[in-house]
Amino acid sequence: MNVAEETPMMKQYKKIKAQYEDAFLFYRLGDFYELFYDDAIKAAKELEITLTKRGNKNDQDIPMCGVPYHSAEQYIATLIEKGYKIAICEQVEDPKKAKGVVKREVIQLITPGTVMDGHVIDEKENNFIAALFPFEDGTATFVKADLTTGEMKGTMLSEDASEWEREIVRKEIKELIVPPSWENSFDEYAVVISTELATELQEEFMPLCDQLHHEKLKKGVALLTNYLKRTQKRVLDHLQPLEVYDVNELMQLDVHTRRNLELMETLRDKKKEGSLLWVLDETVTAMGARLLKSWLEAPLLDRKTIEKRHAIVASFVEHFFEREELREKLQDVYDLERLAGKTAYGNMNARDLVQLRTSLQTLPAFIQILEKIDNPHLLELIEKCGDFHELQTLLEKSIVDDPPVSITEGGMIRKGYHEQLDRYKEASANGKAWISQLEQKEREETGIKSLKVGYNKVFGYYIEVTKPNIRYLEKDRYERKQTLANAERFITPELKEKERLILEAEEESTNLEYELFLEIREEVKKYLRPLQETARVISEIDVLLSFATISERYDYVRPTFTTDRSLEIKNGRHPVVERMIGQGEYVANDMTLNHEREMLLITGPNMSGKSTYMRQTALLVIMAQIGSFVPATSAKLPIFDQIFTRIGAADDLASGESTFMVEMLETKRALTKATPNSLLLLDEIGRGTSTYDGMSLAQAIIEYIHDYTRAKTLFSTHYHELTALEETLDTLHNVHVKAVEEDGEIVFLHKVEEGKADRSYGIYVAKLAGLPERVVERANELLYQYESKEMDTVLEQTRKETVKEDAEQLPLFSWVEEEKRESEEDEREDIVNDIKKLDVLRLSPIEALEKLYTYQKKLQS
Ligand code: ADP
Ligand code: MG
Repeated sequence: MNVAEETPMMKQYKKIKAQYEDAFLFYRLGDFYELFYDDAIKAAKELEITLTKRGNKNDQDIPMCGVPYHSAEQYIATLIEKGYKIAICEQVEDPKKAKGVVKREVIQLITPGTVMDGHVIDEKENNFIAALFPFEDGTATFVKADLTTGEMKGTMLSEDASEWEREIVRKEIKELIVPPSWENSFDEYAVVISTELATELQEEFMPLCDQLHHEKLKKGVALLTNYLKRTQKRVLDHLQPLEVYDVNELMQLDVHTRRNLELMETLRDKKKEGSLLWVLDETVTAMGARLLKSWLEAPLLDRKTIEKRHAIVASFVEHFFEREELREKLQDVYDLERLAGKTAYGNMNARDLVQLRTSLQTLPAFIQILEKIDNPHLLELIEKCGDFHELQTLLEKSIVDDPPVSITEGGMIRKGYHEQLDRYKEASANGKAWISQLEQKEREETGIKSLKVGYNKVFGYYIEVTKPNIRYLEKDRYERKQTLANAERFITPELKEKERLILEAEEESTNLEYELFLEIREEVKKYLRPLQETARVISEIDVLLSFATISERYDYVRPTFTTDRSLEIKNGRHPVVERMIGQGEYVANDMTLNHEREMLLITGPNMSGKSTYMRQTALLVIMAQIGSFVPATSAKLPIFDQIFTRIGAADDLASGESTFMVEMLETKRALTKATPNSLLLLDEIGRGTSTYDGMSLAQAIIEYIHDYTRAKTLFSTHYHELTALEETLDTLHNVHVKAVEEDGEIVFLHKVEEGKADRSYGIYVAKLAGLPERVVERANELLYQYESKEMDTVLEQTRKETVKEDAEQLPLFSWVEEEKRESEEDEREDIVNDIKKLDVLRLSPIEALEKLYTYQKKLQS
């Protein structure tokens, strides 16, 4: 189609659409939002609505679809949930007054990171929009904000890409803003990307960066706020000053480790049930639930802060009644964070104010109980709570108990709050009372028993008389208004006057109520910061109460921290497995690690509990470092800086990379990034390749960690040959998970013991299964042969290449080499003895030559 033929409206459409290429343009046309061209085709599919063509003569071929204005919300929600963006384009002038095409503008860009609609947002999860600003030196600034609560956090990232990934790939990051040149750099992360050009911090947002010493961080804030301002086109007063976090002050858990350890959801089904969060989450408020998640994402490194949390949990554990009372009170505390956000964002209604009021009314009693517990750290926390006495009184006086959702239809303000409003309401009430008596009065006056007084929206108040009775009416007083099939409706001058008064009073009162409501809302807005602070304190207490509740219910213990990197867990349990199989069923296990015992090589038959033992250790460490108690009878732990895991994952296949490649990538990360203060879990490394290949790799990896990385390491393996490493690697120790035979069956005891496992379980099981005796015998025979062969292979493979030149360690399997040397010496001695005994003069030259030949042969071998 020729451009010249386009209608003016389509020209306008295209002009606007050009500015919002990556969004669906919801173009307002009367009572509909219409979508055109590719937008229409895609939206019709996603929303399952009918695709049509535009009917105008000039643009007949344009694909089009539309959603009704009044139900647009649900369609928008659907698209947002699928990760799309929507530009809402409204008519911004009265169509009647417009000359030519009605003026239209995009009034808001709704995106997964900026959506505020309660249908879309999970109340127990943060909805972060993040900005990443990369610098020339390879570092970057990362800032994230939650528009529903106003919280804003930021950090600096190093050149390390896995650090970027760690921050970006999180479930609660819904959208990432980057400079345009970086638009396609994060495709693999499956996060919604938006771009922003403007990188100068605008004056109005400077207070958010007041406390910042790091100039670079401001770039991130600028990128984020500029994008928000450009797309949201409204006040962003509730954004809180940037809270800077240092990734080095938090325990670093990369994406894989978070997934492997099933902190938030299970690997297989992505369900909360079966995750650590599921065990720990007994929070009462949505704010608490959100905070717990963010704690789990970033356990602490600072010992003092962690111990403060432990101390509060301990107090809560001791004070059972207070704890229960506190949790009961929390039922009446609403989502203060999001309520505060709504105040500033301007989408708060009277019901929200009632929620706020109820929360504020609960607060003093809540605090009083906390004071009773008398823990210095708790008192310190309480200090941060604001004083809302005045606000509470205002809300008590002003807002009724059960206001409507709408803020423009009255019914919100309490009687006695405003004199003029009361007068209007009284006038309307008086009028209504007069009308309610009218029926009786008119019946008496006219003698018509069936006479009714009624009201409808179109005609207002009326007196209804059935047709046969009309003749009884006084002619001049009753004015006909409406005729029905067998009745007529009338109005009298007095009724008309009363109606006018009522309507007038009602309109005035609705208008006044709206004004008063806005005033009250402004008043609430003044409390924005204290509300946000208080919300934070309450959520923290909620989480700590949750920890205490869990600790008591499942018998957890307060962990303590060591400073010499040693670890001593007595009767540790896996918090999730324990919950799944029932308390008491779980077999508790000890673990000891210290500077002489940095690595454990864990053997044991399949399904004996190797992986569980390893994971349990990591979970205990994480629990301890977020401030929770741990499932054990005692736990002394070092503070770990990072945890790395290589644990077979079911979802690797789906992600495209081959399992073995994933295994090696994860292992690489662990080997190169770990420090002596890290914890490494390596579960059956090498399983994904052939036996020798896998075993050699496993051994080399163990040696590398032993020699270079020196992190605390738990290494499970099915290669029994590796247990020989204990002899040569001084900090490596063998442990095994025990299984025994009982009545002809293997019983897994799940008990971890020192030393290596018996190895013949496979053949043993085969025997149990009743395989022919011959097979079992032959298998045992072969096994024996393979074992000795492997030994040969291992013998040949000296550690010369892998060991540092200067390392003082004994070479691998030196005891075996020792043996070999010893036997060579024996042989030499034999030869020497032989020679000594020789009567040389009696030998023929040929015989002598022969002897010499054999000796040489022997010595050379
Ligand atoms: P492996 O890694 O040795 O093959 P797993 O750690 O996967 O074995 O454990 C297999 C199953 O055994 C687990 O699913 C769990 O139900 C059970 N299990 C493991 N450890 C224990 C334990 N300490 N107490 C009770 N059951 C356990
Ligand atoms: Mg396993």
